[in-house]
Amino acid sequence: MGTNINVEEIFAKNVFTVAKMRDYLPEEVFAEVMRVRDNGGELTLKTADVVAQAMKKWAIENGATHYTHWFQPLTGITAEKHDAFIKHPDAEGKCLLEFSGKELIKGESDASSFPSGGLRATFEARGYTAWDMTSPAFLKEDAIGTILCIPTAFCSYTSEALDMKTPLLRSMEAINEQALRILRLFGNTSSKKVFPNVGPEQEYFLVDRDTYLKREDLIFTGRTLFGAPAPKGQELDDHYYGTIEERIGAFMNDLNVELWKLGVTAKTQHNEVAPAQHELAPIYETANIAMDHNQLTMEIMKKVAQRHGLACLLHEKPFQGVNGSGKHDNWSLSTDDGINLLDPGETPNENIQFLLVLACILKAVDTHADLLRQSASCPGNDLRLGASEAPPAIISVFLGEQLDDVVRQLVETGEASTLKGNKVLKTGVSTIPDFAIDATDRNRTSPFAFTGNKFEFRSVGSSDSIGSPNTVLNTIVAEAFCEAADELEAADDFGLAVHDLIKRYMTEHNRIIFNGDGYSDAWVKEAERRGLPNLKSMVDAVDTIKTEKAVKLYEKFGVFTRSELESRAEILYEQYSRTVNIEAHAMTSMASKQIIPAAMEYAGMLAETVNQMKQAGVEPIVPMQMLKQVNDNITEMQQALESMKEKRKTGIVMKNQKERAFYFKDNVVPAMAALRAPADRLEKIVDKEYWPIPSYADLMFEV
Ligand code: ADP
Ligand code: MG
Repeated sequence: MGTNINVEEIFAKNVFTVAKMRDYLPEEVFAEVMRVRDNGGELTLKTADVVAQAMKKWAIENGATHYTHWFQPLTGITAEKHDAFIKHPDAEGKCLLEFSGKELIKGESDASSFPSGGLRATFEARGYTAWDMTSPAFLKEDAIGTILCIPTAFCSYTSEALDMKTPLLRSMEAINEQALRILRLFGNTSSKKVFPNVGPEQEYFLVDRDTYLKREDLIFTGRTLFGAPAPKGQELDDHYYGTIEERIGAFMNDLNVELWKLGVTAKTQHNEVAPAQHELAPIYETANIAMDHNQLTMEIMKKVAQRHGLACLLHEKPFQGVNGSGKHDNWSLSTDDGINLLDPGETPNENIQFLLVLACILKAVDTHADLLRQSASCPGNDLRLGASEAPPAIISVFLGEQLDDVVRQLVETGEASTLKGNKVLKTGVSTIPDFAIDATDRNRTSPFAFTGNKFEFRSVGSSDSIGSPNTVLNTIVAEAFCEAADELEAADDFGLAVHDLIKRYMTEHNRIIFNGDGYSDAWVKEAERRGLPNLKSMVDAVDTIKTEKAVKLYEKFGVFTRSELESRAEILYEQYSRTVNIEAHAMTSMASKQIIPAAMEYAGMLAETVNQMKQAGVEPIVPMQMLKQVNDNITEMQQALESMKEKRKTGIVMKNQKERAFYFKDNVVPAMAALRAPADRLEKIVDKEYWPIPSYADLMFEV
């Protein structure tokens, strides 16, 4: 079919871009807005009023009826409350539209239903949203109409962060300040700003919506809680990069258009490893915009899927035994004048600034591996991290052969005099030229890999916000830069001092480098020997954000206060037990109302067959065997169900959030597995006509 899409015309059509601001704003106001956006500070109310008028004009011209402060509370998704532009009609009954500067820059909402982990006392239930000027306003077009969305940070009355954006913005300020100190040491006086660039590769599954709607587990929890393996899995690797089916293609086409209109740089699309699994990668952007855009991407994916009769599953592990989904968080640092601090150049061994940056990152990741691990944890990711498809829960760094050798030389001799050459890939076909391949070969098993001119943090879950991982990365690297700058600024001989420091950091933190197979058991043992943390579950990782080490780090750089960290820990524990509780609920319902009754019906049919065969004078050997198997599994299911219900009940009344979360992990989760096992066995025996829910094959191969 191929529709005509003019990408240049639609790109950022629904965004109040800098270009549009220039068009709609008086020159001096525009200049003021740019100044505040780039250098921080606040707009005067007078300026804000002018901006609000311009934004309203543009929005209304494009059909908007409402505006909203769009924010990212700690639920992991976005929140919005729409207000119409209308104001009280005048004496003639005419209604004028209104939007003031005050309404643009600050909002107030009853925030008592958003997680705050005790930060907000009940008498002060208000939360405040404040415009993040670095992220442009945009229009959301929906069946509900067109809404002007203003990206905002969300704080309590006492300025405590209640969202994902505020700490990320704070961490961006920290890394800017510290990275500039490093650049100045190398004589750079021209760069004015350093900011993190982030490109999140988003994995997802698409299944047929009608099939999806027949499964309570998918509807309520986003993943299958029961399900025997399909006859075919991903063993043939025929889905990865495979041809994209027509219906999926139509979805992708529509998705791209929607995203482009919102200024999201959707770039790469392909089928992933598992059947029905796909990936979308945008072009990287400044971290906070990348986060906003990733949230939008997830939201639009779900919406567009529905339009195409599909359901988009963003859960980290929708199907047991099949590859799960992650979100590779590509991260680098660049200056306002276009220098990428992570670019090694042609001769990384001689690039002292790059080696210092690298040494600092190694130190940061080694010192705070626990925080990085925590930042990528969510209930769904517990089912993925450490399984032999996703990076392990142990954080390590992969550098590739060339850089690894440079580090080795530096550690051993203090000099890196040689550089392992780039390899040339010989195609063996005379018409295709041989080409140099990346010196950083791929290692998919590594959680934190250097890939050319960026690091790729691969542990992040597909459904999770990229706020936490990038906040952690920015802050821990800011700390390492700060400590290095403190030392180097005070040194008499910079050349000698930087040389010593690089060698020292690389020697002290060498243990974090691992180039081998991250999936192997040998690595688990080796990591333990090296003293690297192995925090197996989300619950195990929560307290890392409250250690003295963490509090000192975050308070020093103004990213989190101690009370913000304590409240976040509460929220994480609560989020975990809530999620498991919902899953246990959904399992109870499916087991008792669907699976057990269906299995009993099948058993009844078998029993009848047994009787009939006996009457006919033959020995009912096979139906008897099957009947016994079915009966055994029903019995096992019923017992497991009762036991799981008991445990859930015990857990849910526990008052202490941490205790409750651990109880759910150690008791309810295993009880759920015990209930699932006999059900999945039954699915393999029971006639498909009797089975009450769609199978894995129905879900993954009938899209
Ligand atoms: P790779 O094949 O190495 O994974 P891609 O070119 O497919 O790299 O990019 C993957 C993601 O990384 C994309 O979102 C891309 O925009 C992003 N990316 C590329 N370069 C950088 C960079 N310097 N900093 C941050 N992200 C980057
Ligand atoms: Mg990649």
